[in-house]
Amino acid sequence: MALLHLLGTGAGYTDSWRTTTMLAFQDERSVVAVDCGGDLMQRLQSANCPLENVNALFITHEHPDHCGGFPLFMEKRWLAGVNTPLHVYGPEAGLDQARKAFEVFGLPNWKGMAGVVWHPLPLEEHFLAYEDDIWHIVTSPTFHPVPTVGMRVVHKPSGFVTAYSCDTSPCEAVQKLATSADILVHEANLLEGTLPNVHSSISEATTIALAANAKRLLLIHVPRGISEVHLVQDRLRFSQIEIGEELGAYPIG
Ligand SMILES: [Zn+2]
Ligand SMILES: [Zn+2]
Repeated sequence: MALLHLLGTGAGYTDSWRTTTMLAFQDERSVVAVDCGGDLMQRLQSANCPLENVNALFITHEHPDHCGGFPLFMEKRWLAGVNTPLHVYGPEAGLDQARKAFEVFGLPNWKGMAGVVWHPLPLEEHFLAYEDDIWHIVTSPTFHPVPTVGMRVVHKPSGFVTAYSCDTSPCEAVQKLATSADILVHEANLLEGTLPNVHSSISEATTIALAANAKRLLLIHVPRGISEVHLVQDRLRFSQIEIGEELGAYPIG
């Protein structure tokens, strides 16, 4: 069975049990990880995702809560004896940030350190970013102060579709990525109000899910203090809305 792991569900300023937002798409033979603002390896271990099956890492953008843990992940990968190159995908600016952090610790010179294959993604709508036997992933730029990409991830054996907004204010690009998706994972950094071109509220995420005709909405990148009480109003117009569970594992095919 394929699983979506919410390895972390917090916003940049996390609380006592949520870490920064990180995801993993797991099938028996292929794991695609998304973002590494926290201790990605520790979270993969908690989710029983075998490190050696991580074929690809997406870095959605350059902010520290999405790529700040990259050198730590590479150090731990080295300590675990994994010496296959890691394929890393993301906007050029996000990859640059990760590359600089990797180099500033001198990691490329460590004996036996695996290489990194960087795959810069153009900021084009529905760009085919990654494909293997299991996953078909397209990306589109979203609205955030720095170049950022959202994703549409198709589990090819089952056809199950998961969309991920990444950090964004509500935008049509995410709506398109989430068209008829089985699950939309959308950020809800704001309890209320709007923050144009930066983040989304619960209500704005719900509006996108409805417009996209998505079947289920999981809120991630959530602020401190969020609770079921904050969903009551939006549940009246979309019943399938949930706060993403920290380390939750959701069947996706
Ligand atoms: Zn963020
Ligand atoms: Zn951000």
